[in-house]
Amino acid sequence: AKVYIYANAFDGFPKAGDLEIVEEELKPIKDGEFLAEAEFLSVDPYMRGYAPAFKIGTPIIGGQIALIQESKNPNFPVGKYIFGQFGWRTHTVSNGLPNPKDAMSQYVLPDFKGLSPSLGLGVLGMPGNTAYFGLLEICHPKQGETVVISGAAGAVGSHVGQIAKLKGCKVIGIAGSDDKGKMLIDDLKFDGFVNYKDKDFRKVLRQTTPNGIDCYFDNVGGEISSTVISQMNLFGRISVCGAISAYNEKNPKASVIQGPLTMKQLKMEGFIVTRWYDRWMEGINQNLDWVKEGKIKYRETVTVGFENMFQAFTDMLKGVNYGKAIVRVKSI
Ligand code: NDP
Repeated sequence: AKVYIYANAFDGFPKAGDLEIVEEELKPIKDGEFLAEAEFLSVDPYMRGYAPAFKIGTPIIGGQIALIQESKNPNFPVGKYIFGQFGWRTHTVSNGLPNPKDAMSQYVLPDFKGLSPSLGLGVLGMPGNTAYFGLLEICHPKQGETVVISGAAGAVGSHVGQIAKLKGCKVIGIAGSDDKGKMLIDDLKFDGFVNYKDKDFRKVLRQTTPNGIDCYFDNVGGEISSTVISQMNLFGRISVCGAISAYNEKNPKASVIQGPLTMKQLKMEGFIVTRWYDRWMEGINQNLDWVKEGKIKYRETVTVGFENMFQAFTDMLKGVNYGKAIVRVKSI
């Protein structure tokens, strides 16, 4: 197996030499084990966000869609696609047992009804469930309300906006390029878009949300979020999903959001999507139905080649991706 190892601690934005590919000898499988080969690997913001906890010399964490090649475990038969939280590696021998710290660490994919198994990393996987539960369970959006989403053109954000539209809300996306805004409005039917790199961001956001903001799905934190929160309505709800604006900072900045939180009696709630482990398949099946009915669109930004994973990862951190950033191991 080829495996990416965390060789040097990230200092600010990740550099090529921070990761190293090593060869690992795999032992033949024993009773209860199976061998899976990665076809699609995920690059996600948490791989940067959680980096302070990584140990030098250990594999980089990450999810993948793998095909079972050999098996002595009846729950993981040969020829099935699985999701596995196996890290950045091409081949894995696993005993199929749930990791006590991560109940969804590996599972056979449900029937995607002809759709690509790669979607198990995005719209029909963890980011899709983050959108589904994180919006519906925390913001409780109501018909006619205005929902603002930061990181709107990425895997989670682009999905959140479409669910909010299904619930009859007015949806405004915030992202880092006008081209992404065009995708949100033309393809995903968002009602409005604001580019956070616009020097008049505060003013444009106010103009784009004439009825104020009732729900804010926050993927980025920092100054963008302070601006959004300062423009919220009484009793607004905020789903605090992530803070990517700070992940590459050497000293993440503190943001001053307490003023409007207090004065407007806002409810702000952070979450980790694994809170809904026991409803995981509900999320995937609901998202699958919406995708098959044409109600949720998805986009993947695909990089080809295991050796290009680092490039895919840093491109995602820079915002090159539209929708879910993934790596396909082989070219077709
Ligand atoms: P995305 O597909 O949205 O990719 C990351 C995007 O972040 C980039 O495309 C880029 O878009 C944007 N970005 C990068 N730097 C900045 C910056 N300084 N300020 C604002 N935006 C920036 O990733 P995901 O959809 O996978 O994740 C989105 C967020 O959700 C992350 O914060 C992640 O940590 C969080 N998350 C939380 C989970 C939970 O359980 N709470 C689960 C899954 C994800 P642009 O061009 O717009 O800058």
